[in-house]
Amino acid sequence: MPVINFLTQCVFDAGALKQLGALAKGKGITRPFIVTDAGIKASGILAKVEDALGVPPAGVFAETIPNPTETQTKQALKLYKESGADGIIAVGGGSSMDHAKAIGLLASHSEPLETYAAIIGGAKKIGKIPPLIAIPTTAGTGSEVSVGMVIIMENGRKETFASPNLIPVVALCDPDLTLGLPAHLTAATGMDALTHCIEAVLTPSINPPAEGIGYDGAHRAFGMGMLKRAVKDGSDAEARWHMMMASYEGALAFVKGLGGVHALSHAAGRLHEKKLHHGTLNAVFLPHILRFHNGAADAKYVRLRDVMGLKPSADLADAIQDLNNAIGIPKTLREMGLAVMDGPGIVEYALKDLAHFGNPKPMSADDYARVYETALG
Ligand SMILES: [Zn+2]
Repeated sequence: MPVINFLTQCVFDAGALKQLGALAKGKGITRPFIVTDAGIKASGILAKVEDALGVPPAGVFAETIPNPTETQTKQALKLYKESGADGIIAVGGGSSMDHAKAIGLLASHSEPLETYAAIIGGAKKIGKIPPLIAIPTTAGTGSEVSVGMVIIMENGRKETFASPNLIPVVALCDPDLTLGLPAHLTAATGMDALTHCIEAVLTPSINPPAEGIGYDGAHRAFGMGMLKRAVKDGSDAEARWHMMMASYEGALAFVKGLGGVHALSHAAGRLHEKKLHHGTLNAVFLPHILRFHNGAADAKYVRLRDVMGLKPSADLADAIQDLNNAIGIPKTLREMGLAVMDGPGIVEYALKDLAHFGNPKPMSADDYARVYETALG
C-alpha cells in the first residue's frame, strides 16, 4: 500500500519575495544564514532578498559552485557555525538549494556526509535539520520542495540524499525572480522540470496523486507551450509563472521516483571538470530513454501524448527532440564535450544511481551503453 506525503508549505506568487521576512519569523528564524552563488549576488537578487528579510543576515555564503561538492559544504559549514545562525535561506538554482540542505544536514548531524547517502540506506539516519526556506531563481530543479539533494563527494561519486527532513519548511516561489534568466539556462532548467514530470510519471511505483501532478507539469511546460515561450521571450511573465509551477510540480511528482535519464545525467554530471549542466544532459538523454522504454508503459505514453497536445500517433521521443531543437539544446553529448572514453564510467555509475531503480523496464549495462553511444552522436 503506498504511503503518500504531500509535502511542505509553498508560497507561490509573482512578487512573493516580499513575504520573506514574515515567513522567516514565523518559522523561528531570527538569525538567517544565506546560501547563494556569485551570479545571484551580481544580479542584485541577493540584495533584494536581504531587503525582504528585514533583519541583517548572520552570514552569507555566496560562492556556491554548480554541482556542489562535499568539500565546499565543509567550508560553508564552518562559516555557518561561526555565524551563530538559527536557520538557512537558500537563494538560487538547484546547486544553491542542495548546498544549503547539505550545510543544514551537517550542522545538525555528525560527519561524514557519506553516512546519509540514499543508496546505502542513509535516509533513516537523517533527522531534523535547521529551518530552511528555499527561494528558487530558476524553474527546473524543484529542490525547493524535494526530499532530495545531490552532492559530489570527495571520493568522486555524485551522491543522492533523500529524506522528508531535507524538505525546506517553506518554498518561496516568486516567478518574477526568473525574469532575467538567459535563454540557454531557461531551456536547460526547463528541460529538467519537464524530465522530472515525464520520468516520475513513467516510473512504476504507485502514487496516483504524484503521477497526476506529473501530467499537469508536462501539460504546462510542453502542452501549453510555456517552455518555448519562456525561452523565446525571457520577460514573458505568464510563461515564467507556468514554468515555475511546472518545476514545482516536477518535484512533487518525483517523490514517486525517476529513471534512466537521471541515472545517466547524475553519472555524467559527476565529471566535474566538464561543467555539464544537469538539465541539458537530461534533455539530450530523454528522447533516447523514451525510445528504450517505448512499449513498457503504453497507457502512460498515451496519456503523456494527450496532455502534451500531441496526436495519438505521435512519437514522444521525436516530439522531445523537436522541442530540444526549437529551444537550442545541443543535439548530442559530443557537442557538450563528452567522448567515447567517458562511456564506461558513466554506465558504471548510472547502474549505482538511485534513479536507475525507477526504470519502467529494467536497464542493463549494455542498455545504458547503447543509449550513451546513440546520444553521443
Ligand atoms: Zn533533475
